[in-house]
Amino acid sequence: MTGNADLKSAVVIGAGTMGAGIAYVAATAGYTVDLVEPDGTRRAAVGPQLRTVFDKAVARGKATAQDADAAHARIAYRASLTEVAEGADVIVEAVPERPELKRAVLAEAAARKPRLLASNTSSIPIASLAEGLPRPEAFLGLHFFNPVYAMPLLEIVIGRETSEDAREQALALARELGKDPIVVNDFPGFATSRLGVALGLEAIRMLEDGVASAADIDKAMVLGYRHPMGPLELTDIVGLDVRLDIARTLQKAYGDRFAPPELLVSKVAEGKLGKKTGEGFHVWEGR
Ligand code: NAD
Repeated sequence: MTGNADLKSAVVIGAGTMGAGIAYVAATAGYTVDLVEPDGTRRAAVGPQLRTVFDKAVARGKATAQDADAAHARIAYRASLTEVAEGADVIVEAVPERPELKRAVLAEAAARKPRLLASNTSSIPIASLAEGLPRPEAFLGLHFFNPVYAMPLLEIVIGRETSEDAREQALALARELGKDPIVVNDFPGFATSRLGVALGLEAIRMLEDGVASAADIDKAMVLGYRHPMGPLELTDIVGLDVRLDIARTLQKAYGDRFAPPELLVSKVAEGKLGKKTGEGFHVWEGR
C-alpha cells in the first residue's frame, strides 16, 4: 500500500480479466490498490492495459485527465502477497475458478489481516472456501461482472458464517464503487451464474445438435428475447475456460444438467478460449 492513512486500501489478487477491472473501479473510487499477479508477463501487460481504459474514460468525458492519472497512480503492481502491508480495508481474490487454488490464496490473504476478505468466485459456495479461514465471519462473495467498469451489478454472497458487519461493509463498498448490489444466499452458482451458465450450456448443445449456426442461435435471443447479446457471444466474452470451470462446479452440485458439452471441452483443449484468444464460438479478429 502507499501508506497514505487518509485513503482506503484494497488488495486485488490476480490481474486477469476480472482482477484488472476490480482494481480499476477501486482506484477510481479513491482506494489505493495493490494488484497481485505472479505471472511476470501478465503483470507487465496490465498497467498499460489499464492506462488504455483510463484514457477511454477521459475521452468519453467520464473522468478528467487529472482524476484518471491520480487513480492510475494509486494502483501498485505486486508479484506476491508478501509485498503487501497488513490490515487492508478489503482483499478481493480473483484467481482462476479452482477451489483448491482459491483456498490456498485465501489462506495467504487472511494472514494479511484484512477487515473484509472476499472471493470473486462465479460459482463455488462461500462456505466451502471459508473452511479453515481464521475469521470466516469477515469473509463473503463479491461477484463482479465483466467488464467491471461497465457492469452495474455486484452480487454479494453471504456464507453460513458471514457476519452482519461484513454484509454491511460489502453493501457500503458496493455504493462506493458505484455498483448496484443484490444479496444472495450461499448456493452454488448463486443467482447469476446458475441461470446464465444454464442458458450458455444449452446454446452449446444446440450448436452440437445442428439446430442453427452460432450467429443465429445468438440472434434468436437478441431479437426474440431482447437479450443484449446472445449466449454464445457472452460465453466468448467471459472466456470458455472460465465457463468450463464453472460448469464443472455446478455439475458437482446439481448433476448432469450442468455437464459441460463436448464442444466446450474440445475448444478449451484447442486454446479457443473466446475473445481473449481471438476465437471461441465466434471469430473475434478485427471485431
Ligand atoms: P483470468 O484467467 O483472466 O485471470 C486470473 C489471473 O489470476 C491470471 O492473471 C493468473 O495469472 C492469476 N493467478 C493465478 N494464480 C494466482 C495466484 N496464486 N496468485 C495471484 N494470481 C494468480 O480469470 P478471470 O476471468 O479474471 O476470472 C477470475 C475469477 O473471477 C474466477 O473465479 C472467475 O470465475 C470469476 N469471474 C469471471 C468473470 C468473467 O467474465 N471472466 C466474471 C465474473 C467472475
